[in-house]
Amino acid sequence: MAANNALTPPARIGLVGLGLMGVPMARNLLAAGYSLTVYDVNTQVLSDFAAANPAASAAASLRALAGVCDAVITMLPNGKIVRDVVLEGADNLASGLAAGTLVIDMSSSSPVGTRELGELLAARGLALIDAPVSGGVRRAVDATLAIMIGGDDAQIARCEPLLKAMGRDLFRTGGLGTAHAMKALNNYVSAAGFAAAAEAVLAGTRFGLDPATVVSVLNASTGKNNSTELKFPQQVLTRKFAAGFSLGLMVKDLRTALEVAQATGMKAPIAQATVDEWAGAEALLGPGADHTAMVKFVEHLAGSTIEDGPIQGD
Ligand code: NAD
Repeated sequence: MAANNALTPPARIGLVGLGLMGVPMARNLLAAGYSLTVYDVNTQVLSDFAAANPAASAAASLRALAGVCDAVITMLPNGKIVRDVVLEGADNLASGLAAGTLVIDMSSSSPVGTRELGELLAARGLALIDAPVSGGVRRAVDATLAIMIGGDDAQIARCEPLLKAMGRDLFRTGGLGTAHAMKALNNYVSAAGFAAAAEAVLAGTRFGLDPATVVSVLNASTGKNNSTELKFPQQVLTRKFAAGFSLGLMVKDLRTALEVAQATGMKAPIAQATVDEWAGAEALLGPGADHTAMVKFVEHLAGSTIEDGPIQGD
């Protein structure tokens, strides 16, 4: 059952960060009937969104947005930028938010920074929950994102209707920061699976197998994962490399996952190897490349591509 002070339409919602994910999420909030105000540091992106979505208001500053919202969603590249936007930049949200306003960080931020930010906001009478997402641009468009949610139970109950306008599977993960930790750990497992599949497909091809056969057999067998099921058929074998999630953001998430493990004092050699592998791909291809293009790094290390076919041994 929804909380008494639940954020149901037409509650006034702010969304900061109109990127690949923020734009479809904002559209879904409008479609659900929320009164939406948006902001992005990129003025072109902001005016394009306002032109295409006349029901939304574009704010001239973060402070201006904060003054007209009951809750604010951040969908930004990383936790450092979230902290600047919320609290520390010359123009920030906290300077304009009324006491009791809820900030919902849906970015993939570092959980350690999230806990610090939560304490700083609480001292000002502001609440923070972490609600990162999984499912990529396609599920953002369809409003079927998986959303992990950490923080105070009463605040989470308030924003459930709002989150359901953007996502389908909502998971409460525990206290503040647990959702950001969960998100990073998910992307670590996803990236490790992708990298393993990239090596397997290339090795199989070099050995004489057809790459489509390798992917098909993995998908009918125990080697199947999300990458072999979706990313290899759609993005890698077609060489489109356009899944809509950048390599730079993936490397950031992998470093966060390693930090989570290290913060608990455990060794995580597979996570370390995964960070090293993906950071190598970022150095070769640049942070703006699509993350699925990391296959090109595996090919670069091997000196042949999946398309080259068999390599004759001595
Ligand atoms: P993006 O780079 O496409 O968009 C980020 C937006 O934030 C840009 O429009 C940028 O101009 C804006 N921005 C940057 N600094 C700002 C500031 N100081 N003030 C206001 N706006 C600012 O990124 P994205 O792919 O939409 O990802 C956003 C977040 O969601 C990231 O944390 C990412 O890791 C996470 N995420 C992305 C995906 C995906 O498939 N793309 C999936 C799940 C989670």
